[in-house]
Order: sequence, then C-alpha cells, then structure tokens
Amino acid sequence: MIYHLGLGSNLGDPAKNLERARRFLASKGIVILRASALYRTEPVGFSGQPWFLNQVLEVETGLSPWELLNTAKTIEKRMRRRPAPPDGPRSIDIDILLAGSAVVRSPSLTVPHPKLEERNFVLVPLAEIAPGAVHPVRRANIADLLRASPDRSRVEKIEARTYTGLGAGRGARSSPAAKKRPRSG
Ligand code: ADP
Ligand code: MG
Repeated sequence: MIYHLGLGSNLGDPAKNLERARRFLASKGIVILRASALYRTEPVGFSGQPWFLNQVLEVETGLSPWELLNTAKTIEKRMRRRPAPPDGPRSIDIDILLAGSAVVRSPSLTVPHPKLEERNFVLVPLAEIAPGAVHPVRRANIADLLRASPDRSRVEKIEARTYTGLGAGRGARSSPAAKKRPRSG
C-alpha cells in the first residue's frame, strides 16, 4: 500500500533528525519511493519556537494504517527526548497524511490527516511530489487544496545538498556528501 507521510523537526539538528527518521523507516522495511525537498517552515499554532524543517515522503509498505502508526510512534519515542505539547517543539513528528484512497476514522487514527488541507507546511512539500493525489474526503487533488489553502505561514524550500549546518535554524553550508559525512571532532 502507498502512503504519504509528513515529517517535521525543530529541535537539535532537524536535518539530521529527518535523515535518522528516514533510516528508521527503511530499517522497518518501509520503502521510500519519493522524497520531497526539505522546507524551512514557520511554526503554526504555537509561537515562540524555532522554525521547523518539514519533508513529505511517498512510501510503500504492507503495513496497515494502524501498524504504520505504531511504527511511526515507536520511531518518535526512540528519537523524541521528551513529550511535546500539540504543535509544540519536537525532535521528530511523523504523521500519516494519506493512505491512497482509504479513509480511516478511529480514536487513535484519522486518515487523511485532519489538518492536511489547512497546513502549508504539509501541502507545499506534498504538492511537490504528489500534486495529483486525490484527497478522498475533499475529492480534490493536492494542487487544488494548496491553491485553496487559507494558511499564510511561510514555507521556504531548501535546495538539495545545502542541509548541513541547519542545526541553528539559519544559514546553510553546502555539503557535497550529505548522506555520508565524516564525524566531526
Ligand atoms: P501532532 O502531530 O498533532 O502535533 P502528535 O504527534 O503528538 O501531535 O500526535 C497526537 C496523536 O495523533 C497520536 O498519538 C496519534 O494517535 C494521533 N493521530 C491521529 N491521526 C493521525 C495521523 N493521521 N497521523 C499521525 N498521528 C495521528
Ligand atoms: Mg504527529
């Protein structure tokens, strides 16, 4: 089954956290088919915290939506230093945005993600890799939902290979080998 996942981080070294999360997902047998660029995004709904780094992944797995949610929570627990308030700062957040045309409504899981269509930090990277994906409840595609989004918060695309050095949340040093770089110090 194909899913779209939303990743976000604004604590520690966000780029490294996203990379670790991708590696964790892969280690669970979840195949990453497509990955958006990284985006620097203005916090929504909980001000006074650092900007986030967000990324959307298209993945393939035999896991059910609930199994995938449990896997995401396990990864979050292993990477998250302490619980975070809703919309608050966190080292990693993994949300299930879409599960193809499936609709899930249970106390622990709602898919499509209920806030998908009102968050540019999700819509912009999702529209980058899946503009034609159809939201099965809204019956509109992602490009149209982005055009209709009421969100005015800022979302800035980070060009590939300039991730290193974003730990402080500003500026970027270029790295010729973002994947495997020597340990510093
Ligand atoms: P948020 O992502 O809203 O900032 P959390 O990551 O702490 O907050 O998630 C809160 C709860 O949302 C999770 O425990 C999970 O059970 C629930 N949830 C419901 N639908 C989804 C979804 N589509 N993806 C991820 N979590 C979801
Ligand atoms: Mg979440």
